[in-house]
Amino acid sequence: MNSLETFLSTEEEQEVVSAIRMAEKNTSGEIRVHIERNTTEPIDSRAKFVFHALKMDNTKLENGVLIYIAVDNKKFGIYGDKGIDKKVDSTFWDKTRDVMQRHFKAGAFKTGIIEGIKSASEALEKFFPWQTDDQDELSNEISKGEV
Ligand code: CA
Ligand code: CA
Repeated sequence: MNSLETFLSTEEEQEVVSAIRMAEKNTSGEIRVHIERNTTEPIDSRAKFVFHALKMDNTKLENGVLIYIAVDNKKFGIYGDKGIDKKVDSTFWDKTRDVMQRHFKAGAFKTGIIEGIKSASEALEKFFPWQTDDQDELSNEISKGEV
């Protein structure tokens, strides 16, 4: 098995998907997690590329957030669409990153991702509250591999 298959167990993946589903009950924002083995690009530009490759800019309020992880590189990046970036200050992303980093350093990847989802959704809730006509605009499943 390669590192993509062993990074999270099936159960852990389901917990992450549940965390996304729960987070999206409080906000119209859309959160996704993408993992791949490695990248030679700077992590933030790769996260941005993957965001667009996954068509995550396809939300009405431009409020998609991608958590991107390069497993073999032991690196991750968070990319939020224009709608969010306009509202939050830069410390918001730092806070989410720090929370994840702390758990990742301890090897607690699932917990790190889930805590990152919670942190991101706190800001999303504030600026993009859930609406009665909410749609699940982007899949909650974890996507994997090269895009
Ligand atoms: Ca939604
Ligand atoms: Ca979703």
